Amino acid sequence: MTASEEFTFVCPDCGESMEVNPAMKDALLENGCVVCGAELTPAAFSTSSQSLDQ
Ligand SMILES: [Zn+2]
Repeated sequence: MTASEEFTFVCPDCGESMEVNPAMKDALLENGCVVCGAELTPAAFSTSSQSLDQ
């Protein structure tokens, strides 16, 4: 159990996916995808209650 919420980000444009925290989510929404620069909407983020990466 972690105190901070995590989101799974999947870029609709380039397909980049990563786990982000709320601060990173806000930054991505403001600045766009770090890889391709595509504009992002909240729909690009999903909450994951399970961690799939470990
Ligand atoms: Zn992208």
